[in-house]
Amino acid sequence: MQTISNAIQINHCLLKTVLQNAKLVIDATCGNGLDTLFLAENSPVAKIYAFDIQPAAVENTKQQTLPYKNKITYICDSHSNVKKYIKQIPIDVAVFNLGYLPGASHLIMTHTKTTLETLDIMRQLLKTNGIISITAYPGHTEGKREYNALLNYTKAMDKHTYTVGWYQLHNHIDAPALCWIEKQG
Ligand code: SAH
Repeated sequence: MQTISNAIQINHCLLKTVLQNAKLVIDATCGNGLDTLFLAENSPVAKIYAFDIQPAAVENTKQQTLPYKNKITYICDSHSNVKKYIKQIPIDVAVFNLGYLPGASHLIMTHTKTTLETLDIMRQLLKTNGIISITAYPGHTEGKREYNALLNYTKAMDKHTYTVGWYQLHNHIDAPALCWIEKQG
């Protein structure tokens, strides 16, 4: 078992630093609320918006994050509608944990088209030096499509405006992959 080297753990290590001064943080796929809880615990001054299209996921996230409920707005809607809910831009950190909800129907998952459309919106709303973190799961069919599309999408991002890095275990097949996007000044 890896104690620190998988994509999720690396993501959390990196996020801890940027969350310290973050004022506006988005969990674009809150699921069971584990990431939302992590974001709330590690962002002393942030307002957090947690999105999910599944009512059960939003409810699970509420239960998971009860001690922090005053700093979290829970939204049962697609992250593609982010502009409808967030007026107080720019965004400091947006976190996407793609795929399907562990323990729930595998028929409901993030989809390539919506994910890329949302990234188009989210990157515009991001502040200078703001971060978009995406964990992608190439181990299932739609996840692989989404991962490949993200590799292409991020490769084409203008390097003067965005810095993009990827991290993935190299000797595991189809391991979860982490993408970090930082907006440049
Ligand atoms: N971060 C979660 C796991 C996320 S799983 C945790 O820590 O538990 C991916 C989630 O994305 C699922 O709950 C799914 O319902 C949600 N999802 C799929 N499409 C979405 C969309 N367009 N907008 C918001 N959430 C979406």
